[in-house]
Amino acid sequence: MQIQENIPLAPFTTWKIGGPASYFTRAKNIEDVMEAIAWAKRSNQKYFVLGGGSNILVSDSGFDGLVIKIELDYVNQSDGQLTAGAGVSMSRLGAITMQKNLGGLEWAIGIPGTVGGAVFGNSNCFGGSTGQNIKSVKLLNAFGHIRDESKDYFEFDYDYSKLQKTGEIVLEASFSLQKVPSETMTQRRKDITKTAVERVSAQPLGKKVAGSVFKAFKQTQEIVKQMDKN
Ligand SMILES: Cc1cc2nc3c(=O)[nH]c(=O)nc-3n(C[C@H](O)[C@H](O)[C@H](O)COP(=O)(O)OP(=O)(O)OC[C@H]3O[C@@H](n4cnc5c(N)ncnc54)[C@H](O)[C@@H]3O)c2cc1C
Repeated sequence: MQIQENIPLAPFTTWKIGGPASYFTRAKNIEDVMEAIAWAKRSNQKYFVLGGGSNILVSDSGFDGLVIKIELDYVNQSDGQLTAGAGVSMSRLGAITMQKNLGGLEWAIGIPGTVGGAVFGNSNCFGGSTGQNIKSVKLLNAFGHIRDESKDYFEFDYDYSKLQKTGEIVLEASFSLQKVPSETMTQRRKDITKTAVERVSAQPLGKKVAGSVFKAFKQTQEIVKQMDKN
């Protein structure tokens, strides 16, 4: 594990703005993540876990501490279960599952972030959500302990998982998927591609768009009614 100093964070985010991290490291495997946490403790530094940078806004003054860029990039399959490292991109995972005729994660092709970020925020798209498909997640806590937790632990809700309170780090996630006939998957792929293409007109690829970073109101209709009354 290599610790770099004074690294600009803007290139690691979709907004492409923000100042530098005083310390920065890329974690390619579980040992790297553990070492990074231990280094931060030893050095009396705060740490921040960075995924795809598609749901963070970095201050111009940067981050005074260690940024750990999660790059655990592997996908393993056994029966109907797929396990992905926390650094795997959700859109890539969606594409891989479609290729394998494993149904359940087709919606993920719309998410620009990583598996870790998706679990953290229960990312959702095109009617599907991370929590719906999670079987279990390997977590690391601030004391350096690793354990597996199943879906219920995360209390998934709209744009929410319990990790937002506990601060635990996602190392890898296992998803329950269903084998579907290839004709069914071909149709699903067509449907999702159509929806994705429509979305690109509102969120052009390669442009610095906010995408679905902001939360939608659950009670939008009530609020609109209230506004109408006023
Ligand atoms: C163009 C665009 C379109 C988008 N569309 C959608 C959409 O359709 N649906 C949707 O839900 N979101 C959408 N988003 C928002 C964003 O992509 C998701 O929230 C995504 O899951 C964030 O993942 P990330 O890896 O980029 O996380 P980051 O932005 O890197 O981090 C976000 C948070 O997750 C935490 N985190 C990251 N990795 C880990 C880990 N391994 N363990 C613990 N915590 C971690 C970080 O500490 C941070 O607090 C969109 C964003 C953009 C820019």
